[in-house]
Amino acid sequence: MHILVTNDDGVQAPGLLALAQAMQSLGEVSVLAPDHNWSASGHVKTLHRPLRVKEVTLADGSPAFATDGAPSDCVALALLGFLPKTIDLVVSGINPNANLGHDVTYSGTVTAAMEGAIWGLPAIAVSLEIPENHGGSVDYSSAARIALKIAKKMIAARDRPPNLLLNVNIPYLPEGEIKGWRVTRMGLRIYRDELVRRLDPRGKPYYWIGGDVPTGVPDEGTDIGSILNGFVSITPLQLDLTAHSLIPQLQTWDWNPPE
Ligand code: MN
Repeated sequence: MHILVTNDDGVQAPGLLALAQAMQSLGEVSVLAPDHNWSASGHVKTLHRPLRVKEVTLADGSPAFATDGAPSDCVALALLGFLPKTIDLVVSGINPNANLGHDVTYSGTVTAAMEGAIWGLPAIAVSLEIPENHGGSVDYSSAARIALKIAKKMIAARDRPPNLLLNVNIPYLPEGEIKGWRVTRMGLRIYRDELVRRLDPRGKPYYWIGGDVPTGVPDEGTDIGSILNGFVSITPLQLDLTAHSLIPQLQTWDWNPPE
């Protein structure tokens, strides 16, 4: 088992180190991650400039690769042959904020895992719901152990689709205080973005998307509801964004252009 570990927070992020170390008990781990923070970068394919890769050393002394590409570029690079050995599993994270509901469309953590699924591989995005007012260093150990258990279960499942994509969100609790694991659906995020307009030193306006951190509708069965109640949320994702339920209705519309 050869596991590619990446993230969107940058190769030296502590969440990546915790995840890479945990995955070592599942197989051989290769780390290829962005050289800086790409959080909320969405699904990126860098086509109009070269990608550079350099060897780096993680805080535990283990070797890794850093690129100036996006998280999804890291996965593409690895699978297109930068890493000569075949990859069996892509794991992305551990992101220090949850990726719930519509966040998955913005998330570099999730879109890195999506890239793995596009290439036909099983992939897991792992995010930790660190409280907004949390100060000091973050303990990723509980989340990393849970991510390993989920990866083991996923790999062992005989009826697993080959490119199963899991979006995993973990409450910031010691493992013993977590209530359990739930398979969930995407909930509804409520964004509280506000546009901040200021003047630069030369008197020209600039704009910054600010506002408060998003909340969400904690419905039963959703990622948002589960994590709020202390459960690990495991959401299977698919890249088919078709609104299948709307197809019959839209087919009744007269789509012929007017004469
Ligand atoms: Mn991030």
